[in-house]
Amino acid sequence: MRFSDVIGLDKQKAFLISGVQSNRIAHAQFFEGPRGSGNLALALAYIQYIHCSDKSSQDSCGVCTNCKQFANLVYPDLRLSFPYYGSKSIATDFYADFKTALDKNSYMDFAMWAQWLDAENKKLNIPALELKQMAQHMNLQPFSDGYKVQLIWMPEFLGTEANMLLKLIEEPPENSLFILVGESAENVLTTIKSRTQITRIPPIDNQSMVQHLERTHELDTDGALRIAAMCGGDYLLAQELLDNSENEYLEPFIQWLRLVIAVKRFEMISFSESIGKKGRVYQKGFLHYALEILRSTLLWKEADVEPGFSEKESEFIRKLRKVIDLHVVEEALNLISDSLYSIDRNINQKLIFNTLSHHMMAVFGKKRKKEQATNTSK
Ligand SMILES: [Zn+2]
Repeated sequence: MRFSDVIGLDKQKAFLISGVQSNRIAHAQFFEGPRGSGNLALALAYIQYIHCSDKSSQDSCGVCTNCKQFANLVYPDLRLSFPYYGSKSIATDFYADFKTALDKNSYMDFAMWAQWLDAENKKLNIPALELKQMAQHMNLQPFSDGYKVQLIWMPEFLGTEANMLLKLIEEPPENSLFILVGESAENVLTTIKSRTQITRIPPIDNQSMVQHLERTHELDTDGALRIAAMCGGDYLLAQELLDNSENEYLEPFIQWLRLVIAVKRFEMISFSESIGKKGRVYQKGFLHYALEILRSTLLWKEADVEPGFSEKESEFIRKLRKVIDLHVVEEALNLISDSLYSIDRNINQKLIFNTLSHHMMAVFGKKRKKEQATNTSK
């Protein structure tokens, strides 16, 4: 993996590169980034860059022996750990799977990995035996003159074994490099977290996402803008949205807004349930879509900026901007953003949508009451 294979994240890349060039390489680091941000890809590009024997000020060369070994994850001093099932197994038993899954998609998240292992109903973790293997690996004489690298993907799954890792990080053998890659440092033992240098990886910025989508998915600018606007910097979501048809969310969104405006509480319950059943990806796509439509409505109304949507969608937004109140849209945008945040925190998803719908009704209802009050006072 080279830095150029990682979408966006220019600041983080520059920071990591300057660290290597000035020989400031912390022996324990945490790459923390949300789903679809490329945290693992960036970490892999980083360790390859460190070991590349012909690196430039921008990237690893990609062709030297070390680069090739890192690209294939066979560098002799590199060891990978990740969640898997079975307390008597070690990560190495699942190496081939992991490598293939990663080759297929270097932005893979935990759910995709579990699916890949066909282990969605099994408990995946990083068990004690794996920690022992880690210690053994780090204490072995190195094969090369580089670092002994231990990469731990999703350290959130260490559980109580985290203490064993803590000991390793506290008393590291010479030339150790521990790279932890996860979504949330909050879910990792505080003592470990405090001993690592944390690189925070944000969602991918809009411009880089658009460029990448145009280049690698053969989308025209409008199409790339649409997907980028809806995926919120999550490249996995972008890939999923690409697989979905263009107007998948339009009809349900219209239906939803109709129920909200008409305060159809009873019908809303079954509507919320049907959305809840479709799972996290769909809900996120739906809510990002709702944000985009409402934002475009606001922009069109306020700044006369015509949205880059399909004809059918533009027609809907044209109608919506005539009837919708600015303050209502602003409040609705906040509510939807909050719900998106909650979905990422894995709070009961069915409940989130139901709660959001009821809050939306209240927001739209407030406007109605205000109008009624103004009408009566006239
Ligand atoms: Zn190289």
